[in-house]
Amino acid sequence: PFVADCYLPNETAQLELGRALAPALIGRAGLIFLHGDLGAGKTTLVRGLLRGLGVTGTVRSPTYTLIEPYSIQLADKTTTWPLFHLDLYRLADPRELDELGWRDLRADGGLLLIEWPERGAPLLPAADVSLHLTITASARQLRASGQPSWAAVMAVMQCF
Ligand code: ADP
Ligand code: MG
Repeated sequence: PFVADCYLPNETAQLELGRALAPALIGRAGLIFLHGDLGAGKTTLVRGLLRGLGVTGTVRSPTYTLIEPYSIQLADKTTTWPLFHLDLYRLADPRELDELGWRDLRADGGLLLIEWPERGAPLLPAADVSLHLTITASARQLRASGQPSWAAVMAVMQCF
């Protein structure tokens, strides 16, 4: 698969990368995994993306709710595109995915962004794009891998 790397020196850079992903991701159906320790910047990246998609108001971390649904208005103004932000950190058992309505989410034709996907394994399918965030001193390092059909998304994360 395609690989990309990005050095993100501060929170602003993290938000800006999320924002920059919006045009490449809008309208797509798929599954994106966000790997990384607590504080690695997963939610910050999603927050930037949601801003880029025109979501105003507070973007909450799904730490306790496990899932935050969004309905994004597309350019034609008549179609909405579903986006789901999940944080599976508090999932005690992968089978709880069913209680979250996992099957319906997948069938919805929207984009799923999943923090802590390892908590949902082995019941989660393979991701279209996987992001791995690591903490380096006061900054963050992103490594991404993705399916060839997601090359436009991967290109945004190729910072070097
Ligand atoms: P996660 O969702 O991975 O647990 P968060 O997105 O909540 O992490 O971010 C945790 C903290 O890291 C926040 O205070 C945020 O401002 C900070 N942060 C995010 N990205 C960066 C970055 N590239 N450099 C420095 N700090 C960052
Ligand atoms: Mg988070």
